[in-house]
Amino acid sequence: TRVGVVRETNAGERRVALVPKIIPSLVKSGVHVVVEAGAGLGALIPDEAYIDAGAEIGDPWKADVVVKVAPPTDAEIAKLGSGTTLIGFLAPRNADNKIGALREAGVRAFAVEAIPRISRAQVMDALSSQANVAGYKAVLLAAEQSTRFFPMLTTAAGTVKPATVLVLGVGVAGLQALATAKRLGGRTTGYDVRPEVADQVRSVGAQWLDLGIDAAGEGGYARELTDDEKAAQQQALEDAIKGFDVVITTALVPGRPAPRLVTAAAVEGMKPGSVIVDLAGETGGNCELTEPGEIVVKHGVTIASPLNLPATMPEHASELYAKNIAALLELMLVDGTLAPDFGDQVLADSCVTGVPTSAEPTDAAAAE
Ligand code: NAD
Repeated sequence: TRVGVVRETNAGERRVALVPKIIPSLVKSGVHVVVEAGAGLGALIPDEAYIDAGAEIGDPWKADVVVKVAPPTDAEIAKLGSGTTLIGFLAPRNADNKIGALREAGVRAFAVEAIPRISRAQVMDALSSQANVAGYKAVLLAAEQSTRFFPMLTTAAGTVKPATVLVLGVGVAGLQALATAKRLGGRTTGYDVRPEVADQVRSVGAQWLDLGIDAAGEGGYARELTDDEKAAQQQALEDAIKGFDVVITTALVPGRPAPRLVTAAAVEGMKPGSVIVDLAGETGGNCELTEPGEIVVKHGVTIASPLNLPATMPEHASELYAKNIAALLELMLVDGTLAPDFGDQVLADSCVTGVPTSAEPTDAAAAE
């Protein structure tokens, strides 16, 4: 099976879908890796490193499987031959996703976002691996924007109190943000609508903020709040947020606009010089005053809404992503041949262009 690694074309996208480190094990599984020239440069990986690891530099679009980071553009879909398998982030829940176009092009596409959140699939969970990067980087960004220290300092010139940090939405990114803020010396608090998160918040040394709203949904995700719950939550958060130096928001509901947690009034109630980092900018933002992709100052509060933070740490983000992709690939291979078993929940769920019925030949049968 030939696997093609393409050079990403989105502005600011510096990640790459496979890194040299992961290639020897794929080669052992019977995979031939073809890397587009310069594919790794954003992540500081020269072509020679891929060659040394056992890959070839060539045209990745003609491979049996094309692996990517960002969803393909129309021009990229045009390069994919019928029968090709594509693996990557495909934003399947976005209204403007390319799944219809991929299906029409005869491409069998696997969206890493649709991999089920079950223990067996953790090694393939790209949402988690990249959310870890985003949560970490969000804290660094907050520290950078802050006019205050994170740690408590006791010096000859006086004592500085530790920063108080509130994380709203404690999934993978939020938990990493709490852990990172704690390592920097902040005094941390976490809030979520899934009550099961309380123990995880405490396990990283943070306090749990309980507002009495339970909105646990399906598959470990949150459900959208009712209008009454939303109003009650905004009001309660308006009071709770006042005392915090830093607020990091990561709240998402799959397929829905980001929940509005922080109102303009809540921002106004914060001390000037405080910082909000809103990781939900891509779906509209958790803060009413967020301007996605920008850093703005409103009522003296700095509100940063960085987009695609994982791309700002391309080396480790790519390394983790590559491990996810390689694990998903391995699941589709039988003796080096692509033969996805759609009886496997991980493959059935993540194949967003439609799972073949038993009447259709499998790839393995077609290859005979
Ligand atoms: P996510 O990115 O979908 O959402 C981030 C957080 O926002 C979630 O914790 C969610 O509950 C919270 N949220 C949504 N609406 C909110 C609101 N109105 N107010 C406050 N918070 C709100 O979440 P995620 O990081 O993808 O994690 C989702 C779940 O999947 C978690 O339970 C996580 O532990 C679990 N998970 C399981 C596995 C596995 O077992 N394989 C792997 C990764 C994550």
